[in-house]
Amino acid sequence: MKLKTLITGVAVSATLIAGAAIAQRVTNQYLSTTYNELRNWAGQYATPSVYLDRNVCGEPRGVTAYACGQNIQLGTQFLQGLENRYSYAAKGVFAHEWGHSIQFKYGIYSNPPYQELQADCVSGAYAYRAENNLGYRGLFNAVQSTAYNSGDPTHGTGSQRAYYVRNGYNTNGNLVGCF
Ligand SMILES: [Zn+2]
Repeated sequence: MKLKTLITGVAVSATLIAGAAIAQRVTNQYLSTTYNELRNWAGQYATPSVYLDRNVCGEPRGVTAYACGQNIQLGTQFLQGLENRYSYAAKGVFAHEWGHSIQFKYGIYSNPPYQELQADCVSGAYAYRAENNLGYRGLFNAVQSTAYNSGDPTHGTGSQRAYYVRNGYNTNGNLVGCF
């Protein structure tokens, strides 16, 4: 198992949020499960190596999520912060980074913000699959809301990001529709 050998143990406590929803705990298990889900769904296009809380892309560890080449680095603290607002948000970020891995593998490079918006589309396509085939109810809303709240000049405005997540969802889970 590629992921198991790479990720290191960081468990973050569950956090109660308003509305009585319980945030997912961003543990190795949670991210390993997500990795397997993404590999089963999109592994034919890319199978990146994933590193938790390690600097493999030249980005500070722990505070972000980032893809470079066929590597993805995930900051568990960053992901837990997103989960605390929207359950399953971390899965959407993981799918977004997987989308970048597909871009890099196939040499797809677009000007800002379209490189990022295409990755958002992939996260939306995954959201369809996750809700309809994997039973993660509410995941689409989590992904769309997180994207909407995370606009910036590189990634696009919040409205653009939410729009591309919806475009991805409307592929009925077929990420090829994003490319
Ligand atoms: Zn991105």
